[in-house]
Amino acid sequence: MNLVLFGPPGAGKGTQAKLLTEKRGLPQLSTGDMLRAAIEAGTPVGLAAKAIMDKGDLVSDAVVIAIIADRYDQPDCQNGAIFDGFPRTVAQAEALDKMLAARGRQIDHVLELKVDDAALLARVESRIASGGPVRADDNPETLKNRLAVYYKNTAPLLGFYGAQGKLRTVSGMDPIPDVTKAIDAALGA
Ligand code: AMP
Repeated sequence: MNLVLFGPPGAGKGTQAKLLTEKRGLPQLSTGDMLRAAIEAGTPVGLAAKAIMDKGDLVSDAVVIAIIADRYDQPDCQNGAIFDGFPRTVAQAEALDKMLAARGRQIDHVLELKVDDAALLARVESRIASGGPVRADDNPETLKNRLAVYYKNTAPLLGFYGAQGKLRTVSGMDPIPDVTKAIDAALGA
């Protein structure tokens, strides 16, 4: 199964992707994690991506499409994958469809985690207030830009996948176990 977890920044995609990974044995393919690893490793891709990510803008389609194609060809993706934070533009979604079709595969489900903007901001503020580890792009200012980028570039994918009949929406506002249950129900599990 190939599954896209979709939603605004901070909606809980990563958390639910990890739970799905444990339950279904499919790897979590997070372009954000891959880019952060590239920054850590000091690769040319990482060096170029850092300033863009710190601002909350999007890294170029060509870069993320190349890293996801590379990752998808690893043996652990033979039964599919959970895409987390990818695709984020219509061009990325089209490239993903082509990449999968070339391998005789397709996206089976797209799950939207719906969370309102005020709740996303409140989540960031509480992470900061609790003194836990926060990412360089995890602050109210950057989150506002990431949200604006989400609405402009990523939200149009709801129409793209809706037209393909693959989109299911669950509320991401509930406690984590309830969201997990809603996802299982949406996947028919
Ligand atoms: P995330 O961990 O998914 O919130 O991603 C963190 C940051 O990495 C984003 O704000 C973007 O700057 C960059 N990024 C991650 N995935 C993508 C993508 N599919 N397309 C473009 N930029 C991305």
